[in-house]
Amino acid sequence: MQTNLADFIKNTREGDEADAILRSCVHCGFCTATCPTYQLLGNELDGPRGRIYLIKQVLEGKQVTANTQSHLDRCLTCRNCETTCPSGVQYGRLLDIGRKVVEDRVPRPLGQRLKRAALKEVLPRRWLFAPLLKTGQALLPLLPPTLQNKVPRRQTAGALPTATHTRKMLLLDGCVQPALAPNINTATARVFDALGVQLVVAPKAGCCGALRYHLNDQDGGLHDMRRNIDAWWPLVQDGVEAIVMTASGCGSTVKEYGHFLAHDTAYAEKAARIAELCKDVSEILPQFEAALQQKLNGKIGKRVAFHPPCSLQHGQQIRGKVEGVLRAVGVDVQLCADSHLCCGSSGTYSILQPDLARKLRDNKLANLQATGAPAIVTANVGCQAHLQSGTAVPVTHWIELIDSALAQNLDNYGSYNT
Ligand code: SF4
Ligand code: SF4
Repeated sequence: MQTNLADFIKNTREGDEADAILRSCVHCGFCTATCPTYQLLGNELDGPRGRIYLIKQVLEGKQVTANTQSHLDRCLTCRNCETTCPSGVQYGRLLDIGRKVVEDRVPRPLGQRLKRAALKEVLPRRWLFAPLLKTGQALLPLLPPTLQNKVPRRQTAGALPTATHTRKMLLLDGCVQPALAPNINTATARVFDALGVQLVVAPKAGCCGALRYHLNDQDGGLHDMRRNIDAWWPLVQDGVEAIVMTASGCGSTVKEYGHFLAHDTAYAEKAARIAELCKDVSEILPQFEAALQQKLNGKIGKRVAFHPPCSLQHGQQIRGKVEGVLRAVGVDVQLCADSHLCCGSSGTYSILQPDLARKLRDNKLANLQATGAPAIVTANVGCQAHLQSGTAVPVTHWIELIDSALAQNLDNYGSYNT
């Protein structure tokens, strides 16, 4: 695609990157068919090709309106279009650049500004989010029914292992996950402990940076990334084997630290090393398949429907690994129809675009339930909470199923999610 960027962005770092991405798009439109928002709304401007065209206009200095902003806001950043694109267009990066320019030029109404500010300030701060969530959960019976299913139910976490091992890996605790679904990380620690690996947490690490970065507070997001690098670096120097991610949304961001901080001379090298060490839990467990099979001494006779989060299958391009591990230990894993489509969670999307998010969730749940499986597993806390808000079928992280099997507690599997 020919481009002619305006002076305000020409020859800047963002401008050069956006220009290269725009030029790689041949406007074929293959991506449109797999875009969830295009499928729901049927408008070219609510699909990837249309949004690319809008961003091109913005960067070429054409008028930017609230309408432009709405079409970009409605994008889930699911990156399904990147998987479909035969030309390798890095749509997600282009969107980050385009959204930031639009954000600076189109003032949002007060209500939107307050909502976005609250999300940016509260969600990445565990000490603020956890007590607010607890209060919401305590007041649940008093809330109107329409609000009740928006508050995730309280979850209990099993105990953390206390044994030490010579093999050590870092675990990202995350920001909302310890409050929303505390059993995921403790289950992961127990599974790794059983396999002879100690998971360590750097207390000063927190949000991976995605929350603020994707709400157009890019400086705030970069600050979170640098803080994590500072917290992890001494342990990296001590030789941890990997940085384990249990939320694929965070993993997809941490794997791009090298890109986000490539311009920062103080952090570029460390960021690239951190990105290299970052692994989704499903990338690590295949090496322990034989040990898991031996320990489980038979088969986990469970049938589950697996929802692969977009951040796993499109962001990190990891497909088939979760299913492989689960099948190796005897789980009957079903993928549903349209498994490549987003469930509508997508970071803060379900809060900022509730109608579209609900439609996508209901479509996804209908497909998952059509598999006939009595339980749903996924690999990202946001998808888990969003899907659970629309069904009584238990939705858990897949590692919790392995943990329950190792503890010979499959009868109670899913009961921590009440
Ligand atoms: S992003 Fe890729 S698939 Fe979509 S129009 Fe451009 S080249 Fe075609
Ligand atoms: S990221 Fe997802 S919602 Fe956004 S344009 Fe691409 S496919 Fe559509």
